[in-house]
Amino acid sequence: MPGTMCVLPWLQMIVRADGQVQVCNRMSGFVENERRPVNVSTASPTDIWNARGLVEMRHRMLTGERVDACSECYLLEERGAESLRLEMLRRWEAGFLNEGRHTLEVFMAERRPTATDGPRWIQGDLGNRCNLACRMCNSGASSKILHDPVHGRWSGPALDATRQTDAWYGDPVLLAGLLTSAPDLRQLHIIGGEPTLMTEIDEVLDLVVQTGRAPQIELSFHTNASRPSAPWFKWFAHFRAVVAYISVDGAEEDYEYIRYPAKWPRFTKNLEQLLTVEGLEVRAHVVVQAYNVLRIGRLLAFLEQHGVRVDIHLLAEPAYLDVQVLPPSARRLARERIATYADVTADADLRGKLLGICEYLSAEHVQSPEVAMFMTFTNDIDASRRQNIRISNPELVAAYDADGMPWQTTYRHADRPKGDGG
Ligand code: SF4
Repeated sequence: MPGTMCVLPWLQMIVRADGQVQVCNRMSGFVENERRPVNVSTASPTDIWNARGLVEMRHRMLTGERVDACSECYLLEERGAESLRLEMLRRWEAGFLNEGRHTLEVFMAERRPTATDGPRWIQGDLGNRCNLACRMCNSGASSKILHDPVHGRWSGPALDATRQTDAWYGDPVLLAGLLTSAPDLRQLHIIGGEPTLMTEIDEVLDLVVQTGRAPQIELSFHTNASRPSAPWFKWFAHFRAVVAYISVDGAEEDYEYIRYPAKWPRFTKNLEQLLTVEGLEVRAHVVVQAYNVLRIGRLLAFLEQHGVRVDIHLLAEPAYLDVQVLPPSARRLARERIATYADVTADADLRGKLLGICEYLSAEHVQSPEVAMFMTFTNDIDASRRQNIRISNPELVAAYDADGMPWQTTYRHADRPKGDGG
Protein backbone atom coordinates (compact mmCIF):
# COMPACT_ATOMS: atom_id res chain seq x y z
CA MET A 1 0.00 0.00 0.00
CA PRO A 2 1.61 3.32 -1.03
CA GLY A 3 2.83 5.14 2.07
CA THR A 4 0.77 8.32 2.25
CA MET A 5 -1.70 7.99 -0.60
CA CYS A 6 -5.36 8.64 0.14
CA VAL A 7 -8.19 8.85 -2.39
CA LEU A 8 -10.35 11.28 -0.42
CA PRO A 9 -8.72 14.56 -1.57
CA TRP A 10 -9.89 13.66 -5.12
CA LEU A 11 -13.35 12.51 -4.06
CA GLN A 12 -14.77 14.28 -1.04
CA MET A 13 -15.57 17.85 -0.04
CA ILE A 14 -16.84 18.58 3.45
CA VAL A 15 -18.38 21.99 4.05
CA ARG A 16 -18.48 22.87 7.74
CA ALA A 17 -21.24 24.94 9.34
CA ASP A 18 -19.15 28.10 9.09
CA GLY A 19 -18.41 27.48 5.40
CA GLN A 20 -14.82 26.24 5.83
CA VAL A 21 -13.81 23.15 3.90
CA GLN A 22 -12.07 19.83 4.61
CA VAL A 23 -11.63 16.66 2.57
CA CYS A 24 -12.41 14.23 5.37
CA ASN A 25 -13.53 14.08 8.98
CA ARG A 26 -10.04 13.22 10.24
CA MET A 27 -7.85 15.92 8.71
CA SER A 28 -6.54 18.60 11.02
CA GLY A 29 -7.09 22.16 9.88
CA PHE A 30 -8.96 23.31 6.80
CA VAL A 31 -8.35 23.64 3.09
CA GLU A 32 -6.34 26.82 2.51
CA ASN A 33 -5.49 29.21 -0.26
CA GLU A 34 -2.49 31.49 0.27
CA ARG A 35 -2.32 30.05 3.83
CA ARG A 36 -5.84 31.23 4.70
CA PRO A 37 -8.82 28.87 5.09
CA VAL A 38 -11.15 29.02 2.13
CA ASN A 39 -14.88 29.50 2.65
CA VAL A 40 -17.83 28.62 0.41
CA SER A 41 -19.43 31.95 1.28
CA THR A 42 -16.60 33.89 -0.37
CA ALA A 43 -15.03 31.56 -2.96
CA SER A 44 -16.53 29.44 -5.71
CA PRO A 45 -16.65 25.67 -5.09
CA THR A 46 -14.66 25.14 -8.29
CA ASP A 47 -11.85 27.39 -7.06
CA ILE A 48 -11.94 25.71 -3.65
CA TRP A 49 -11.61 22.26 -5.21
CA ASN A 50 -8.25 23.35 -6.59
CA ALA A 51 -7.21 25.71 -3.80
CA ARG A 52 -3.46 25.92 -3.40
CA GLY A 53 -3.43 23.98 -0.10
CA LEU A 54 -5.47 21.13 -1.55
CA VAL A 55 -3.33 20.91 -4.69
CA GLU A 56 -0.24 20.77 -2.47
CA MET A 57 -1.82 18.02 -0.36
CA ARG A 58 -2.56 15.92 -3.44
CA HIS A 59 0.92 16.54 -4.80
CA ARG A 60 2.52 15.28 -1.58
CA MET A 61 0.37 12.16 -1.64
CA LEU A 62 1.23 11.35 -5.26
CA THR A 63 4.94 11.68 -4.47
CA GLY A 64 4.75 9.64 -1.24
CA GLU A 65 5.40 12.53 1.13
CA ARG A 66 3.68 12.89 4.48
CA VAL A 67 0.92 15.48 4.87
CA ASP A 68 0.82 17.32 8.20
CA ALA A 69 -2.99 17.46 8.14
CA CYS A 70 -3.14 13.64 7.99
CA SER A 71 -1.15 12.89 11.16
CA GLU A 72 -4.12 11.26 12.87
CA CYS A 73 -4.32 8.58 10.18
CA TYR A 74 -0.59 7.93 10.38
CA LEU A 75 -0.71 7.60 14.18
CA LEU A 76 -3.52 5.03 14.07
CA GLU A 77 -1.63 3.06 11.42
CA GLU A 78 1.57 3.10 13.48
CA ARG A 79 -0.41 1.61 16.36
CA GLY A 80 -1.91 -1.13 14.19
CA ALA A 81 -5.47 0.22 13.87
CA GLU A 82 -7.28 0.88 10.61
CA SER A 83 -7.17 4.60 9.78
CA LEU A 84 -9.83 6.34 7.71
CA ARG A 85 -7.25 6.50 4.91
CA LEU A 86 -6.90 2.70 4.87
CA GLU A 87 -10.61 2.10 5.34
CA MET A 88 -11.44 4.33 2.38
CA LEU A 89 -8.75 2.73 0.22
CA ARG A 90 -10.21 -0.68 1.05
CA ARG A 91 -13.75 0.47 0.21
CA TRP A 92 -12.62 2.29 -2.93
CA GLU A 93 -10.75 -0.80 -4.20
CA ALA A 94 -13.97 -2.77 -3.59
CA GLY A 95 -15.86 -0.40 -5.91
CA PHE A 96 -17.04 2.50 -3.72
CA LEU A 97 -16.86 5.60 -5.98
CA ASN A 98 -14.70 3.45 -8.23
CA GLU A 99 -17.19 1.99 -10.68
CA GLY A 100 -14.42 1.06 -13.15
CA ARG A 101 -12.61 -0.92 -10.41
CA HIS A 102 -9.32 0.83 -11.19
CA THR A 103 -6.27 -0.13 -9.19
CA LEU A 104 -4.60 2.44 -7.00
CA GLU A 105 -1.55 2.33 -9.27
CA VAL A 106 -3.69 3.36 -12.25
CA PHE A 107 -5.43 6.04 -10.17
CA MET A 108 -2.08 7.49 -9.11
CA ALA A 109 -0.71 7.38 -12.64
CA GLU A 110 -3.76 9.14 -14.07
CA ARG A 111 -4.46 11.72 -11.41
CA ARG A 112 -2.77 15.08 -11.10
CA PRO A 113 -2.58 17.41 -8.09
CA THR A 114 -5.08 19.63 -9.87
CA ALA A 115 -8.39 17.81 -10.04
CA THR A 116 -10.18 18.04 -13.38
CA ASP A 117 -13.50 16.67 -12.13
CA GLY A 118 -15.46 17.87 -9.12
CA PRO A 119 -16.15 16.08 -5.84
CA ARG A 120 -18.21 12.92 -6.04
CA TRP A 121 -19.06 13.03 -2.36
CA ILE A 122 -20.21 16.14 -0.54
CA GLN A 123 -20.75 16.27 3.20
CA GLY A 124 -22.71 19.23 4.52
CA ASP A 125 -22.30 20.13 8.16
CA LEU A 126 -25.56 21.95 8.80
CA GLY A 127 -24.91 23.55 12.15
CA ASN A 128 -24.92 22.56 15.80
CA ARG A 129 -28.61 22.47 16.73
CA CYS A 130 -28.71 19.43 18.99
CA ASN A 131 -30.69 18.15 21.96
CA LEU A 132 -27.92 15.99 23.46
CA ALA A 133 -24.61 16.75 25.15
CA CYS A 134 -22.60 13.57 24.58
CA ARG A 135 -19.38 13.41 26.53
CA MET A 136 -17.04 13.10 23.56
CA CYS A 137 -18.82 15.79 21.52
CA ASN A 138 -18.13 19.53 21.34
CA SER A 139 -19.74 22.97 21.15
CA GLY A 140 -19.34 23.14 17.38
CA ALA A 141 -21.51 20.03 16.95
CA SER A 142 -23.94 20.51 19.85
CA SER A 143 -25.70 23.71 20.91
CA LYS A 144 -26.55 21.94 24.17
CA ILE A 145 -22.83 21.65 24.96
CA LEU A 146 -22.18 25.21 23.81
CA HIS A 147 -24.70 26.50 26.38
CA ASP A 148 -23.70 24.08 29.15
CA PRO A 149 -21.81 26.01 31.86
CA VAL A 150 -19.43 23.11 32.52
CA HIS A 151 -19.14 21.06 29.34
CA GLY A 152 -19.19 24.26 27.26
CA ARG A 153 -16.11 25.55 29.09
CA TRP A 154 -14.24 22.30 28.46
CA SER A 155 -15.13 22.42 24.79
CA GLY A 156 -14.58 26.13 24.18
CA PRO A 157 -16.48 28.64 22.06
CA ALA A 158 -18.00 27.80 18.68
CA LEU A 159 -20.30 29.27 16.09
CA ASP A 160 -23.88 29.03 17.38
CA ALA A 161 -25.71 27.97 14.25
CA THR A 162 -29.06 28.06 16.08
CA ARG A 163 -28.83 31.88 15.96
CA GLN A 164 -27.32 32.16 12.50
CA THR A 165 -29.46 33.73 9.78
CA ASP A 166 -26.97 33.78 6.89
CA ALA A 167 -25.67 30.20 6.91
CA TRP A 168 -24.30 28.94 3.58
CA TYR A 169 -26.80 26.06 3.51
CA GLY A 170 -29.68 28.55 3.60
CA ASP A 171 -28.49 30.23 0.39
CA PRO A 172 -30.07 28.55 -2.67
CA VAL A 173 -27.66 30.24 -5.11
CA LEU A 174 -24.65 28.93 -3.20
CA LEU A 175 -26.18 25.44 -2.93
CA ALA A 176 -26.88 25.40 -6.65
CA GLY A 177 -23.26 26.41 -7.31
CA LEU A 178 -22.03 23.60 -5.11
CA LEU A 179 -24.12 21.05 -7.02
CA THR A 180 -22.99 22.46 -10.38
CA SER A 181 -19.35 22.08 -9.31
CA ALA A 182 -19.97 18.38 -8.70
CA PRO A 183 -21.51 17.07 -11.94
CA ASP A 184 -20.76 13.44 -11.04
CA LEU A 185 -21.95 13.61 -7.43
CA ARG A 186 -22.86 10.19 -6.03
CA GLN A 187 -22.88 10.68 -2.25
CA LEU A 188 -24.55 13.44 -0.25
CA HIS A 189 -24.03 13.18 3.50
CA ILE A 190 -25.62 15.43 6.11
CA ILE A 191 -24.45 15.90 9.66
CA GLY A 192 -25.22 18.37 12.43
CA GLY A 193 -26.05 18.91 15.18
CA GLU A 194 -29.02 16.61 15.00
CA PRO A 195 -30.47 16.57 11.48
CA THR A 196 -33.98 15.53 12.57
CA LEU A 197 -34.23 18.89 14.38
CA MET A 198 -33.17 20.91 11.31
CA THR A 199 -36.01 22.24 9.19
CA GLU A 200 -33.49 23.73 6.70
CA ILE A 201 -32.76 20.25 5.32
CA ASP A 202 -36.19 20.22 3.69
CA GLU A 203 -35.19 23.06 1.37
CA VAL A 204 -31.74 21.59 0.66
CA LEU A 205 -33.25 18.26 -0.44
CA ASP A 206 -36.01 19.99 -2.39
CA LEU A 207 -33.30 21.78 -4.36
CA VAL A 208 -31.36 18.56 -5.03
CA VAL A 209 -34.52 16.82 -6.20
CA GLN A 210 -35.39 19.77 -8.49
CA THR A 211 -32.08 19.31 -10.33
CA GLY A 212 -33.24 15.82 -11.34
CA ARG A 213 -30.03 14.29 -10.03
CA ALA A 214 -31.37 12.60 -6.90
CA PRO A 215 -31.75 9.17 -8.63
CA GLN A 216 -27.94 9.06 -9.03
CA ILE A 217 -27.23 10.09 -5.45
CA GLU A 218 -27.08 8.14 -2.20
CA LEU A 219 -28.31 10.37 0.59
CA SER A 220 -27.00 9.63 4.07
CA PHE A 221 -27.09 11.34 7.42
CA HIS A 222 -25.99 10.91 11.01
CA THR A 223 -28.67 11.01 13.68
CA ASN A 224 -28.78 10.43 17.43
CA ALA A 225 -32.21 8.77 16.95
CA SER A 226 -33.77 10.92 19.63
CA ARG A 227 -36.54 11.39 17.06
CA PRO A 228 -37.79 8.62 14.78
CA SER A 229 -38.70 10.88 11.86
CA ALA A 230 -38.46 14.36 10.36
CA PRO A 231 -40.53 16.24 7.74
CA TRP A 232 -37.71 15.88 5.19
CA PHE A 233 -37.94 12.08 5.25
CA LYS A 234 -40.59 12.62 2.55
CA TRP A 235 -37.80 13.10 -0.03
CA PHE A 236 -36.28 9.63 0.50
CA ALA A 237 -38.09 7.98 -2.42
CA HIS A 238 -36.35 10.33 -4.88
CA PHE A 239 -32.81 9.19 -4.06
CA ARG A 240 -30.88 6.18 -5.33
CA ALA A 241 -30.53 5.01 -1.72
CA VAL A 242 -30.82 6.50 1.77
CA VAL A 243 -28.73 5.48 4.79
CA ALA A 244 -29.15 6.65 8.38
CA TYR A 245 -26.06 6.29 10.57
CA ILE A 246 -27.33 6.02 14.12
CA SER A 247 -24.83 7.41 16.63
CA VAL A 248 -24.76 5.07 19.60
CA ASP A 249 -21.80 4.26 21.84
CA GLY A 250 -23.08 2.01 24.58
CA ALA A 251 -26.00 -0.08 25.74
CA GLU A 252 -28.28 0.71 28.67
CA GLU A 253 -26.44 2.64 31.45
CA ASP A 254 -23.39 3.22 29.23
CA TYR A 255 -25.66 4.83 26.64
CA GLU A 256 -27.30 7.13 29.19
CA TYR A 257 -23.95 8.01 30.80
CA ILE A 258 -22.33 9.00 27.50
CA ARG A 259 -25.31 10.44 25.58
CA TYR A 260 -26.87 12.69 28.21
CA PRO A 261 -29.80 13.29 28.66
CA ALA A 262 -30.98 10.57 26.25
CA LYS A 263 -32.71 7.50 27.65
CA TRP A 264 -32.06 3.95 26.47
CA PRO A 265 -35.73 2.80 26.32
CA ARG A 266 -36.62 5.78 24.10
CA PHE A 267 -33.58 5.12 21.91
CA THR A 268 -34.49 1.47 21.37
CA LYS A 269 -38.10 2.40 20.56
CA ASN A 270 -36.99 5.00 18.01
CA LEU A 271 -34.46 2.61 16.49
CA GLU A 272 -37.20 0.04 15.99
CA GLN A 273 -39.34 2.67 14.29
CA LEU A 274 -36.47 3.80 12.04
CA LEU A 275 -35.93 0.20 11.00
CA THR A 276 -39.44 0.21 9.53
CA VAL A 277 -39.05 3.39 7.42
CA GLU A 278 -39.47 2.48 3.78
CA GLY A 279 -36.39 3.00 1.63
CA LEU A 280 -34.13 3.65 4.61
CA GLU A 281 -31.13 1.52 5.48
CA VAL A 282 -30.10 1.85 9.12
CA ARG A 283 -26.49 1.45 10.22
CA ALA A 284 -24.92 2.15 13.61
CA HIS A 285 -22.02 4.55 14.03
CA VAL A 286 -20.08 3.53 17.13
CA VAL A 287 -17.14 5.50 18.56
CA VAL A 288 -14.87 3.48 20.84
CA GLN A 289 -13.56 5.57 23.72
CA ALA A 290 -12.47 5.34 27.35
CA TYR A 291 -16.07 5.26 28.62
CA ASN A 292 -17.30 2.31 26.55
CA VAL A 293 -14.36 0.12 25.54
CA LEU A 294 -14.75 -2.33 28.44
CA ARG A 295 -18.39 -3.11 27.62
CA ILE A 296 -18.68 -2.40 23.91
CA GLY A 297 -19.51 -6.07 23.18
CA ARG A 298 -22.89 -5.65 24.86
CA LEU A 299 -23.84 -2.91 22.38
CA LEU A 300 -22.46 -4.81 19.39
CA ALA A 301 -24.49 -7.89 20.33
CA PHE A 302 -27.63 -5.77 20.68
CA LEU A 303 -27.09 -4.19 17.25
CA GLU A 304 -26.35 -7.49 15.54
CA GLN A 305 -29.49 -9.00 17.08
CA HIS A 306 -31.48 -6.15 15.52
CA GLY A 307 -29.85 -6.67 12.13
CA VAL A 308 -28.08 -3.30 12.24
CA ARG A 309 -24.74 -3.14 10.43
CA VAL A 310 -22.04 -1.54 12.55
CA ASP A 311 -19.59 1.15 11.47
CA ILE A 312 -17.05 1.33 14.30
CA HIS A 313 -14.23 3.84 14.88
CA LEU A 314 -11.68 4.73 17.53
CA LEU A 315 -12.21 8.16 19.03
CA ALA A 316 -9.52 10.69 18.18
CA GLU A 317 -10.67 13.87 19.91
CA PRO A 318 -10.68 14.90 22.67
CA ALA A 319 -7.41 13.13 23.49
CA TYR A 320 -8.39 12.71 27.16
CA LEU A 321 -11.15 10.27 26.12
CA ASP A 322 -8.87 8.12 23.92
CA VAL A 323 -8.77 4.51 25.18
CA GLN A 324 -5.05 4.99 25.90
CA VAL A 325 -6.00 6.94 29.05
CA LEU A 326 -7.13 3.67 30.63
CA PRO A 327 -4.73 1.82 32.92
CA PRO A 328 -2.95 -1.20 31.41
CA SER A 329 -5.10 -3.80 33.20
CA ALA A 330 -8.31 -2.24 31.83
CA ARG A 331 -6.91 -2.13 28.31
CA ARG A 332 -5.85 -5.77 28.59
CA LEU A 333 -9.32 -6.78 29.75
CA ALA A 334 -10.98 -4.71 27.00
CA ARG A 335 -8.72 -6.31 24.41
CA GLU A 336 -9.59 -9.83 25.59
CA ARG A 337 -13.31 -9.09 25.52
CA ILE A 338 -13.21 -7.45 22.08
CA ALA A 339 -11.13 -10.32 20.66
CA THR A 340 -13.72 -12.76 22.03
CA TYR A 341 -16.48 -10.79 20.32
CA ALA A 342 -14.47 -10.65 17.09
CA ASP A 343 -14.38 -14.47 17.14
CA VAL A 344 -18.15 -14.80 17.23
CA THR A 345 -19.42 -11.93 15.10
CA ALA A 346 -20.95 -12.91 11.78
CA ASP A 347 -19.83 -9.60 10.23
CA ALA A 348 -16.39 -10.05 8.60
CA ASP A 349 -15.95 -6.31 8.13
CA LEU A 350 -16.64 -5.67 11.81
CA ARG A 351 -14.28 -8.49 12.80
CA GLY A 352 -11.41 -6.85 10.91
CA LYS A 353 -12.05 -3.51 12.58
CA LEU A 354 -12.31 -5.08 16.03
CA LEU A 355 -8.97 -6.81 15.54
CA GLY A 356 -7.46 -3.44 14.61
CA ILE A 357 -8.83 -1.99 17.85
CA CYS A 358 -7.30 -4.94 19.75
CA GLU A 359 -3.97 -4.11 18.14
CA TYR A 360 -4.29 -0.48 19.23
CA LEU A 361 -5.11 -1.63 22.78
CA SER A 362 -2.11 -3.95 22.84
CA ALA A 363 0.35 -1.03 23.07
CA GLU A 364 0.38 -1.37 26.87
CA HIS A 365 3.64 0.52 27.19
CA VAL A 366 1.85 3.62 25.83
CA GLN A 367 0.14 5.44 28.70
CA SER A 368 -1.59 8.59 27.59
CA PRO A 369 -0.41 11.68 29.50
CA GLU A 370 -4.05 12.76 29.63
CA VAL A 371 -5.07 10.53 32.58
CA ALA A 372 -5.42 13.43 35.05
CA MET A 373 -7.39 15.39 32.47
CA PHE A 374 -9.70 12.40 31.91
CA MET A 375 -10.43 12.14 35.63
CA THR A 376 -11.01 15.88 36.08
CA PHE A 377 -13.25 16.09 33.01
CA THR A 378 -15.23 13.05 34.17
CA ASN A 379 -15.64 14.48 37.69
CA ASP A 380 -16.78 17.82 36.28
CA ILE A 381 -19.35 16.33 33.93
CA ASP A 382 -20.55 13.85 36.57
CA ALA A 383 -21.04 16.66 39.10
CA SER A 384 -22.96 18.84 36.67
CA ARG A 385 -25.28 15.98 35.62
CA ARG A 386 -25.74 14.09 38.85
CA GLN A 387 -23.94 11.12 37.35
CA ASN A 388 -21.15 9.14 38.95
CA ILE A 389 -18.57 6.99 37.22
CA ARG A 390 -18.09 4.96 40.39
CA ILE A 391 -21.71 3.83 40.05
CA SER A 392 -21.99 3.63 36.27
CA ASN A 393 -18.62 1.99 35.65
CA PRO A 394 -17.09 0.70 38.93
CA GLU A 395 -14.90 -1.78 37.05
CA LEU A 396 -13.08 1.09 35.36
CA VAL A 397 -12.40 2.95 38.60
CA ALA A 398 -11.24 -0.28 40.27
CA ALA A 399 -8.77 -0.90 37.44
CA TYR A 400 -7.10 2.47 38.11
CA ASP A 401 -6.86 1.60 41.80
CA ALA A 402 -5.42 -1.84 41.02
CA ASP A 403 -2.77 -0.33 38.75
CA GLY A 404 -1.66 2.18 41.38
CA MET A 405 -3.33 5.17 39.73
CA PRO A 406 -6.16 5.96 42.18
CA TRP A 407 -9.07 8.00 40.90
CA GLN A 408 -8.45 11.70 41.65
CA THR A 409 -11.15 13.94 43.12
CA THR A 410 -10.17 17.00 41.09
CA TYR A 411 -12.58 19.51 39.54
CA ARG A 412 -12.03 22.36 37.13
CA HIS A 413 -15.32 24.02 36.12
CA ALA A 414 -17.91 22.28 38.34
CA ASP A 415 -18.48 22.66 42.07
CA ARG A 416 -17.22 19.77 44.15
CA PRO A 417 -20.27 17.72 45.27
CA LYS A 418 -20.84 17.56 49.02
CA GLY A 419 -19.24 14.47 50.48
CA ASP A 420 -16.63 14.10 47.75
CA GLY A 421 -13.23 14.13 49.47
CA GLY A 422 -10.28 16.19 48.27
S1 SF4 B 1 -4.99 10.45 4.99
FE1 SF4 B 1 -6.55 10.53 6.61
S2 SF4 B 1 -6.62 12.66 7.28
FE2 SF4 B 1 -5.56 12.60 5.26
S3 SF4 B 1 -7.18 12.99 3.78
FE3 SF4 B 1 -6.99 10.77 3.98
S4 SF4 B 1 -8.48 10.18 5.55
FE4 SF4 B 1 -8.18 12.40 5.69
